[in-house]
Amino acid sequence: MHKIAFLVLLLCSLLFCMASCKNADHEHVLDEWKQISESSCSKQGEMIRNCTKKNCDYTETKYLDLKSHDYEDSVTPPTKTTDGYTTHTCKNCAHVLVDTYVPAVGSDNLEYDHIVTDESVTCIITGIGTCKDTDVYIPTYIGKYPVVAIAEGAFKKCDTIRSVTLPKGIVEIGKEAFYECSNLEKITIPDTVQKVDANAFFSCYKIRYVYISNLTAWCKIKFRTADANPTNFATKLFLNNQLLTSLTIPDEVTEIGDFAFVNCSSITEIFIPEGVTYIGVDTFSNCGITSITIPDSVEKILSRAFEKCKYLTNIKLPSGLTEIKAYVFANCWRLQNIEIPQTVTRIDLGAFENCSGLVSITIPKSVKSIGARAFRDCTNLGSIVLEDTNNWLAYDDSYDITGTPIDVTDPVKNATYFKTARDFAHWEKN
Ligand SMILES: [Zn+2]
Ligand SMILES: [Zn+2]
Repeated sequence: MHKIAFLVLLLCSLLFCMASCKNADHEHVLDEWKQISESSCSKQGEMIRNCTKKNCDYTETKYLDLKSHDYEDSVTPPTKTTDGYTTHTCKNCAHVLVDTYVPAVGSDNLEYDHIVTDESVTCIITGIGTCKDTDVYIPTYIGKYPVVAIAEGAFKKCDTIRSVTLPKGIVEIGKEAFYECSNLEKITIPDTVQKVDANAFFSCYKIRYVYISNLTAWCKIKFRTADANPTNFATKLFLNNQLLTSLTIPDEVTEIGDFAFVNCSSITEIFIPEGVTYIGVDTFSNCGITSITIPDSVEKILSRAFEKCKYLTNIKLPSGLTEIKAYVFANCWRLQNIEIPQTVTRIDLGAFENCSGLVSITIPKSVKSIGARAFRDCTNLGSIVLEDTNNWLAYDDSYDITGTPIDVTDPVKNATYFKTARDFAHWEKN
């Protein structure tokens, strides 16, 4: 131990000697610091001092602090559609700094109300008022109060508006807010929106452009009905001005909300990360996907989640799934390959209705109930393999609560049960 310490010490002193003795056989005698250049805002000033000994060219240099920029300010006021800001330009070096953003003013003369609570005063837009704009920009503030919502029926049957831009700060869009806005083509929805109430965009048949900026926020929105989501008519979504064709659900998302991508037929690929636990009602219905893998973290897939995905041929269900909900794959008529996980206990009403691409399916032992019309119009389904054939009862319809035993003697060919009147029956384990 001591030997090592000694060696280290020796090495250090040797290095020190080499550094200090190099190029010098004398101790430098340094003169006064002399400034050779001044600092500006972009270049450091320099000072030097030299050794005064004869024939010695030893020099030391030190740098002075930069001077601060000398700014000239110019204010660009906000317009109806663009934010205002202040530009600071340095008179000496042309360095530019922009800050103090002021939100766009928005459209004039809209109708509004104040929402007064103990904590705050905010504004809610209640109607078009005397505003003549065809492209409506909802203001961020009215006076000093932030605009947070569009009221129920605010623009109902307003057939003059062509586009609506909602600013950041809007949290809620009320019921029937844009109901039958028959000329509405574009809507911009900020990432602050949390709830869109029933039929907010009902019969907005001309909508083609739905602009959003944040997928995580979009997946969290509570859309009350399919017609609360403008994609139901637009059939597509623009994320930061790019048409969304390949959808990757962000890692932060745990629940993909009801109706989130309803009718987005322009989406042809969907990647769902491990960590998502919930896929909502109608979430991906009528999307343009051809195959999808749902990670094992998903516990619930709600009714109609993939209904009318007419290009879907392959789907991998999560291994812990317990219920196949009503109409979840109805009208997926190219669906060929599906394996029902061994944890599923119920296959609900119409789950695979009109899946004419299915040629065979295996119902695992865990399944205790198969809903009415679950395989109705699966015209090519030649084989339903029941892994457990015992004690099934068929109920001809919901009015007949008694049930009649089914004779399942040849489970491989019992698919015929679903091609008769019993299309309408639901089956249950006794
Ligand atoms: Zn010297
Ligand atoms: Zn400068």
